[in-house]
Parts: sequence; structure tokens; C-alpha cells
Amino acid sequence: MSHTQSQPVIQVTNVCKTFPNGRKALDGVSIQLAAGEMVALIGASGSGKSTLIRHIGGLIVANKGNDGGEIAVFGDQVQAGGRLTGDVSQVRRRLGVIFQQFNLVPRLTVLTNVLAGRLGRMPKWRGVLMQFSHLEKQRAMQALARVGIAATARQRAATLSGGQQQRAAIARALCMEPEALLFDEPTSALDPELEQEVVKVIKALAEEGRTMLIVTHDMKMASDVSDHVIFLHRGLIEEQGPPETLFGAPKSERLQGFLQSTVHA
Ligand code: ADP
Ligand code: MG
Repeated sequence: MSHTQSQPVIQVTNVCKTFPNGRKALDGVSIQLAAGEMVALIGASGSGKSTLIRHIGGLIVANKGNDGGEIAVFGDQVQAGGRLTGDVSQVRRRLGVIFQQFNLVPRLTVLTNVLAGRLGRMPKWRGVLMQFSHLEKQRAMQALARVGIAATARQRAATLSGGQQQRAAIARALCMEPEALLFDEPTSALDPELEQEVVKVIKALAEEGRTMLIVTHDMKMASDVSDHVIFLHRGLIEEQGPPETLFGAPKSERLQGFLQSTVHA
């Protein structure tokens, strides 16, 4: 990690987002991630988790004016008052974002999909492998080895299981050598038996001390690997703290109810 401990890696200050259809998704959210910190974002469906991740990744902007708040990543402002203010493509290169859907190109090899991560944009596919150096291919192979699927490098992505596809998507993000990782429900699209292989990879990344913000419905993973947990309710932070407190002694009745519902899910 190249940044200093004192500077937050991600700083979201008072962000509000109302969609054009009038739906208020974020209602004044502030969060902060320090280098090496692993933060879990939990909450019911529709509470605003993905909207927050998308704001940090610079994929959407907050409300115009004071209502929009401010977001800084690696100390550089990326949006303020509902306007992108930084170099978003630069920020995206430094942040690895992993979604529920793996977004691999099925007919291309796993290796090519992972190499695409280095471009920071969708490439023109014809001859794409030619654009990469031996070193870059080595890095992509290392990323695949890191998530335990190096043996699949030459297969088409379409031939992988769901768990392997998600691991390939993680390798694609790692291939950029990101300084922080954002995950949005990385295991939600997987069958329970495949979920664990992805959870294992995420746990290992957390143990390496990577800076990670992870939206998850998996309360066991959240309590096992996070340093800090944030419970979002209707676009507001209802409760946050260490996992022992949030899962062991939640104060908010809404959080208690939410945790009950996940036990029976
Ligand atoms: P979560 O990820 O916690 O399930 P989201 O961030 O996806 O929640 O959504 C928060 C709220 O914003 C929901 O009520 C959702 O329907 C609404 N919403 C999300 N995206 C859009 C959009 N593009 N247009 C309108 N409403 C949206
Ligand atoms: Mg979501």
C-alpha cells in the first residue's frame, strides 16, 4: 500500500441521491475507509447499498448542489455537489469493482477476460492479446493463480462454473493492481455450494490487509472478515461499529429485525 495511514482511502461525506423517478436512495450518507480496512455494508434490499458503491466508483453522481455532498478517493475529490470533479478513469484504475454479475465475455478465454482488466475500458476485441506484453500476461496468470483457477486460463469463460466465473472477475480486478476493492454482492448469483469458494478468496484478500468495501448478504462472511460493519436502512446509516457489536449486541431494533430475517432466509 502506497498511501499513508492517516489519509482515508475512501471518504464519502453527506451524500444524498434522489433518482429522477423521485426515489430517495441515499439520505445523507458519510463513510470513511482507512488503508487496509475491511468494511462490510449490510442492509435490506433497496436500502441503497449498490447506489453507494456506484457513487464511489464514479458510475453515478449525487444530487446537485449542497445535497450532493462530496466523495474523495485516495485523497482526490471525485465528485461534489452532483458533478464529477476528478479524473474518473484514473480512479477506476485504482479501484477494483466486482459486481454480482461477473460481466465476463463468454466466448473469450479466461486469460483474455482478465487482461481486459488492465485496459480500464472495453477494448476492441480483435487482436486484443497482441496489445499485451509478456509481463502483463504473467501478471494476469498470477492473478488467476491468486484466485485458484490458473488451470482455466485458456478455456472460454462460458465453460466455467459460476464460482469460477466470479473468481475470474476478481482476478480481472486484481490484474489492475488496485489499491482498494469494492464488492457488490459478489456471491449472490451463486449456488450455495459455489458460494464458499468465492468467500474463501475474499477472506484471503482480507487477510492480506487489502482495503475493501463489501456489500454482502452473507452475515457470516461479514462477521468473520470485517473490521467495521455499516447497516444501511432506507438510505441512512442506522447503526455501525465493530462486527462483535453489530452482530453480537445490535442496538437498533431495525438491525435486530434485519438480522433475524437473514437467519431464516
Ligand atoms: P440495494 O443495493 O441496497 O438493494 P439500491 O441501491 O439498488 O439498493 O437501491 C436503492 C433504492 O433506489 C431502491 O428503492 C431502488 O429501487 C432505487 N433505485 C436504484 N437505482 C435506481 C434507478 N436507476 N432509478 C430509480 N430508482 C433506483
Ligand atoms: Mg444492490
